[in-house]
Amino acid sequence: MNKPEFLGKKSKAAGGWGALKSCGKKLLASGSPLTGAAAMLKANQPDGFDCPGCAWGDPEHGSSFEFCENGVKAVAWEATDKRARPDFFSRHTVSELRNWSDYDLEREGRLTHPMRYDAESDTYRATTWDEAFAEIGAVLNSLDSPNRAEFYTSGRASNEAAYVYQLFVRLYGTNNFPDCSNMCHEASGVALDQAIGIGKGTVVLEDFEKADAIFVIGQNPGTNHPRMLGDLRRAAMRGARVAVFNPVREKGLERFADPQDKLEMLTGGSTAIASEYYQVRLGGDMAAVRGMAKAVFAADDAAIAAGEPSVLDRNFLEQHTSGFELYRASVNATSWDDIVDQSGLSRAELEGLAEIYIKSERSICTWAMGVTQHRHSVATIREISNFMFLRGNVGRPGTGLCPVRGHSNVQGDRTVGINEKPSNAFLDSLEKEFGVRMPRRHGHNVLAAIGAMIDGSSQAFIGLGGNFARATPDSPLIAKALKNQKLTVNIATKLNHSHLLPGEVSYVLPCLGRTEIDRNAKGVAQIVTVEDSMSMVHGSGGINKPASPELRSEVAIICGIAAATVGSEVVDWAALSQNYDLVRDLIARTIPGFHGYNEKVRRPRGFRLYNAVEHRVWNTRSHKATFSTDRLPTETEHQKALGEDGLFVLQTFRSHDQYNTTVYGLDDRYRGIYGERQVVFVNPSDLAEIGAVSGDRVNIVGRHDDGIARVAENFRVVAYDLPRGSVAGYYPELNVLVPLSTAGEESDTPTSKSVLVSFELAQQAQAA
Ligand code: SF4
Repeated sequence: MNKPEFLGKKSKAAGGWGALKSCGKKLLASGSPLTGAAAMLKANQPDGFDCPGCAWGDPEHGSSFEFCENGVKAVAWEATDKRARPDFFSRHTVSELRNWSDYDLEREGRLTHPMRYDAESDTYRATTWDEAFAEIGAVLNSLDSPNRAEFYTSGRASNEAAYVYQLFVRLYGTNNFPDCSNMCHEASGVALDQAIGIGKGTVVLEDFEKADAIFVIGQNPGTNHPRMLGDLRRAAMRGARVAVFNPVREKGLERFADPQDKLEMLTGGSTAIASEYYQVRLGGDMAAVRGMAKAVFAADDAAIAAGEPSVLDRNFLEQHTSGFELYRASVNATSWDDIVDQSGLSRAELEGLAEIYIKSERSICTWAMGVTQHRHSVATIREISNFMFLRGNVGRPGTGLCPVRGHSNVQGDRTVGINEKPSNAFLDSLEKEFGVRMPRRHGHNVLAAIGAMIDGSSQAFIGLGGNFARATPDSPLIAKALKNQKLTVNIATKLNHSHLLPGEVSYVLPCLGRTEIDRNAKGVAQIVTVEDSMSMVHGSGGINKPASPELRSEVAIICGIAAATVGSEVVDWAALSQNYDLVRDLIARTIPGFHGYNEKVRRPRGFRLYNAVEHRVWNTRSHKATFSTDRLPTETEHQKALGEDGLFVLQTFRSHDQYNTTVYGLDDRYRGIYGERQVVFVNPSDLAEIGAVSGDRVNIVGRHDDGIARVAENFRVVAYDLPRGSVAGYYPELNVLVPLSTAGEESDTPTSKSVLVSFELAQQAQAA
């Protein structure tokens, strides 16, 4: 069999010369390599801008090069010299552009003018900001209820943009805030709130310097949080155990060559990251953690029986937790057979991991989408919390729970009010500050918003960044829902598919990027703020000249729409858009933890928001760290797939040339894929069951029994090291297979990591 040309060399290690070469390529492709390179020296620097990539933290005493390969891609992609001007839109109808790939659309470059959709010519036409604001306000006010409008937020929006957005929307009269975290770490927020009393992680970067063991679950930092590899490498080099649970062998978790390490770069060397790497089954993390807990309890019984000290942190358990005995009983009631079958790991492997945990004085657990995008994700994260309580690994240095967020400010957006279920305390403080009643009825998250847009009860969609149509599941249904709208508005830096599903009235409004200088009418450069996964809030000030004089900041655009929709009697939107210190003053007066915001955010590296767990204060119902007693799922999709011929469980993930739905290129060099995205990774031993060989083309058929036919056509099979019965491929292309009707319990997060599918050979399908 000839090796298809797209299958190229896999990198030996993440980072290294490959990363530098890739950075160089992206900067050159941006057409402004010098601007891009200069910008990188200001990325994640106290007097610079916050990388518009992920939400990994910035070290207290960072180096001059506080960025990674994917940070360079994000900046080069934004700082491109290419422009999608009005003449481009006049040459291409929306129907034609809908057939372009995500990559080709964004590669056209930065939007330059506010654009209004002209249905007659099926094209977007340049318009003015005033016309746009006026018509958007008019359509919103023409709806018979504010609850007929959906206000989506992408996690790239700054605290200031998110705060004025929530204020405008609540003054408009609704809590309909579908946001991107509904599709990523919602399960983390729900579970941690119940277990420790705050829906955020408890770890700071310095804890990685003290931990003896770091459990990395369902996460691929090499692509999604690359600077985390630096922290894991330093931990591994000082002897800490890094235990990985991931169905896929991800290069970054195997070996990392730190581009800032001269010796490794000169010798072509690299450092082993994972000391233990287990390819757990999809959705098997809960069983794996339950297995480790079971082994810890067995070790404790043995220690007690031998008259040795308990291996548990009895003081912590007695003083700080509730429900310990109930949890112990539920662990005892869980059989090793169920644990082994669901996790795909052997009892001995889990006992070995428990030993690492017991021998470690300080342990951290980190996780991402591999944990949060299943039906039972909330229960899995509660189980991770249970496990960490056993040896008091929360609320002390070198320990903790660390959901690693995707978007650079997804955590900040929730903190400043992007929440369809706002607390009464927050609404009370807004009412006190603004003297008007706020809507109390809980609103729509992403799933509820989609349902309302499909059944027609919602008639307007406003998108603050993002690519809603491509980030969400069941793509054909979303396309129909968006085109159903009376109004669609997208605030964006570049053209994407969501813009090409216009409602009756549709606007694409171009905003400044994170790297660009945001000057007010007096020429004063303004800063915005973001909050990373470690609850650190810091300032970000652009340094590049805006891509077009027509661009406006997200804050200014929202203030323009707000003034046209709800008027300026209650809030002086113009003043807020001219001076973000005023926005921060409002945040400081209405949200706990932001006192002295404007002063604190101008300190190098900003400040950390108060986290009660750091003081072992638990804002839970029991005022204790709370054990839960969830049962393992009766059957995961992976177990179901293993039990039926021809049935497989699919996980969608990112390539290394991608950030969320933004596709920077068609390579995935850590997995040996070049120039192609229509690929599906299959265990070599499963190829026979599909009746295919590596390189064959297949159609992937959705097998969720809700009566909706789902198929992803013409994907190339790639033999890859995955657990039997599981397959993997890229989103957004494969979101067409993710059913809207399967969502995480308590989180409503699409189950993109456990989608039931089967295969048919593309030729056979064509012949049929
Ligand atoms: S780790 Fe994340 S935030 Fe840091 S430079 Fe890379 S993409 Fe940007």
